[in-house]
Amino acid sequence: MPLNSSQYTDLMDRYAQTQIENQLTLKDRKAEVYEKLPRIRKIDQEIAASSIQAIRERLDHGNDTTGSAKERNHKLIAEKKALLQANGYSEDYLQPIYTCPLCQDTGRVGTRYCSCFEQAAISLLYRQSNLEQVLQTENFEHFDLSYYPKDTDDSHPYSPYENMSNILSKAKEFVSSFDNAGGNLLFYGRTGLGKTFLSHCIAKALLDTHHTVLYQSSIHLFEDICSDAVMNKGRNPQSEETYRYLYSCDLLIIDDLGTEYTNSFVSSELYNILNTRMRDKKSTLISTNLDLQELTERYSDRITTRIIAEYKVFKFYGSNIRLAKRKKEIQK
Ligand SMILES: [Zn+2]
Repeated sequence: MPLNSSQYTDLMDRYAQTQIENQLTLKDRKAEVYEKLPRIRKIDQEIAASSIQAIRERLDHGNDTTGSAKERNHKLIAEKKALLQANGYSEDYLQPIYTCPLCQDTGRVGTRYCSCFEQAAISLLYRQSNLEQVLQTENFEHFDLSYYPKDTDDSHPYSPYENMSNILSKAKEFVSSFDNAGGNLLFYGRTGLGKTFLSHCIAKALLDTHHTVLYQSSIHLFEDICSDAVMNKGRNPQSEETYRYLYSCDLLIIDDLGTEYTNSFVSSELYNILNTRMRDKKSTLISTNLDLQELTERYSDRITTRIIAEYKVFKFYGSNIRLAKRKKEIQK
């Protein structure tokens, strides 16, 4: 599923747009600061003049005065930063603004695409444009443990609260050690216990640290794969080019595994995706309402065996958080 040329042009247009917006913001900032702190305008003029002077000296008279010009500018820059801070601005308030500091809003780092470009491509190709919006509210900052009851029952040694505190801290650990440790997660348990919410928390934290995340509901994912297999008879639907990001994104999240229409084709595709990602040391997060027994029955032994061996498995239990949240909203 590579980008077609109009999608590529669209993405590059977005970068151009971002650059223009950031330049305009910087222009406004300068105007605001110059108005309020005329000394800063003077400093900027002096810095520019001093650099030009040094170049002229070298060209016209063969004198290399760049060293002393540099020193002078150094002092001026320090004065400027101090002035900005003394007036309630950050010291880099007048520095160029980049939405993505990695590629400075060009989409490329050296000869490679930046992670922000890859992520934009993923969102476009896999129709996850609403994810960004969801992540505004579903993230670690908004995770509320107070919905989980603190009493234990006979079926579990820990209360839902204790269980969830543990899962939450493991999820945060997963994110903080992502670049070094990687690994895979399986969240299972009944519906409405926060599995999807926690997957969103992890997605947001990794996107914020410039990783690529492909988030797909199981239904959607396998619908696309199956229809592609039907449409492109004879062509290998597993080809890396067709589903490049399924294999190459830093984290693949398959939400609600088990809700798709499962047949032997789906089962073997699932195995192929999970297996290839494990082989390439790419992380996968699966959430499902099925328990391990049901997973084995529905897919195959080889899938469940690999999951149990290679995934950190967490069981969610307790009462339906989604309902409790709705009730609370109604009572507001
Ligand atoms: Zn970037």
